[in-house]
Amino acid sequence: MADYDVIILGGGPGGYLAAERLGHRKLKVLLVEQESLGGTCLNVGCIPTKSLLNSAKLYAHAQHSEQFGVTATGVAYDWTQVQAWKADVVGKLVAGVGASEKRAGVEVAHAHGSLVAPGVVEVAGERKTADHVIIATGSVPVLPPIPGAADNPLVVDSTGLLAVESVPQRLVVIGGGVIGVEFASLFAAFGAQVEVIEMLPEILPFMDDDLAARTRKALTGVTFRLGCRVTGIANSEDGSATVVYTDAKGAEQRAEADLVLMAVGRRPLVQGWGAEEAGLEVGPRGVVVDDTMRTNLPNVWAVGDVTGRSLLAHAAYRMGEIAAAHIIDPVAARRNGQRLRTDTIPWAVYSMPEAAGVGLTEAQAKERGHDVITATVPLAVSGRFVAENGVRGPGAVKLIADRGTRAVLGVHMLGSYAPETIWGAATALETELTIDDLRQVVFPHPTVSEGIREAAWAITD
Ligand SMILES: Cc1cc2nc3c(=O)[nH]c(=O)nc-3n(C[C@H](O)[C@H](O)[C@H](O)COP(=O)(O)OP(=O)(O)OC[C@H]3O[C@@H](n4cnc5c(N)ncnc54)[C@H](O)[C@@H]3O)c2cc1C
Repeated sequence: MADYDVIILGGGPGGYLAAERLGHRKLKVLLVEQESLGGTCLNVGCIPTKSLLNSAKLYAHAQHSEQFGVTATGVAYDWTQVQAWKADVVGKLVAGVGASEKRAGVEVAHAHGSLVAPGVVEVAGERKTADHVIIATGSVPVLPPIPGAADNPLVVDSTGLLAVESVPQRLVVIGGGVIGVEFASLFAAFGAQVEVIEMLPEILPFMDDDLAARTRKALTGVTFRLGCRVTGIANSEDGSATVVYTDAKGAEQRAEADLVLMAVGRRPLVQGWGAEEAGLEVGPRGVVVDDTMRTNLPNVWAVGDVTGRSLLAHAAYRMGEIAAAHIIDPVAARRNGQRLRTDTIPWAVYSMPEAAGVGLTEAQAKERGHDVITATVPLAVSGRFVAENGVRGPGAVKLIADRGTRAVLGVHMLGSYAPETIWGAATALETELTIDDLRQVVFPHPTVSEGIREAAWAITD
């Protein structure tokens, strides 16, 4: 008999939620985490960034509240307290994960784990056996081979930037994806001069082009350099760095910085825990899995960032749940359609303003051969949005549908509460609603979510 029913490598969202689901079904589970429960998301990702962004938003609101009849004088921020708030939030949530695992009867090992073979894992040098193994080792930041970037104290990744002791005066962000944009917005709100250098012609490549352009224009205090390739970073004696890049026209340009954030993406952590030695299939995106999170090895599953199927915490949760469901009762899991559908995973950007979306962009829908119909409405259609932002506040919803079937293919939103609202659109995609179905859904009034309903009605038949 094996020591455990399931051993899980990695205590981030994918690993810890799978552990809880399995524990609640009375399976004997060992969750192995080498750093801190909660993984990237709770410790150095989703949660600390949102804590800092919340402080930045409060600071920005306090400075711009006169039009709402509220005058705040002496508005200032205290970076030490901003960081203390972040640490307090992270600490409480990490402790909460520990408590949840305990409640679920999950044993936690704070140690490094390695896969030896299917059903065999080495934990802190000791061999343990299990009927199933779930790999949930997550991802790490990519450091591209840009001359002058490696071992440069003025070049940090997201984890380094989260921990800075003060707000840099000039921040250069390399990469205009979610992480780059959130940090740019955050530090711009705290008064830093921020430049984002992006290789592609637009930021946020997963967002519909029209709305990505609107988002970029709405991000005040941030200068974007699009279609630009960074070629080197050199430090000066005065303690600053010069980022050299080639602009869209091929000319060499320079950006001066007190700190440089390298935010060009993350890669799955597939080394250092025995993947190759155990014979696990690893592709260019990460550990290869099918839609039920099965790897090529018997009873070895992989979930979350390490699979490269989606680099989002809620996708990791879902993958963890799918693997757990198939381990608990494979027949029921198949019958209930427990499989990963990446097309319906929403995404969100918590910048100022916020943005979110789910499903295809207009360009992707066309590439897939859809005869596309779209509608874009300003969020000024929402009374609540106008009450809080004015009619000119940055906000819009774009809905993308198939002309023939009238199925909703994508919803992309810019504006306040978009991340809180988008799950409704995700449900529409998940349940394959048509525009006509969506038009029959009653939305609460006044809410920003009504923008989605207005977009459905704005499609011309
Ligand atoms: C700055 C930043 C902001 C982000 N913001 C968001 C957001 O707002 N929303 C969102 O959805 N996503 C966000 N993400 C992405 C999110 O953090 C990840 O998608 C999510 O954490 C992936 O979960 P995971 O369980 O796959 O891996 P991880 O959270 O990376 O957890 C993996 C865990 O495995 C452990 N581990 C690795 N190898 C071993 C081993 N051999 N033995 C034992 N333990 C091991 C690691 O220590 C780690 O704790 C953000 C990421 C970053 C960097």
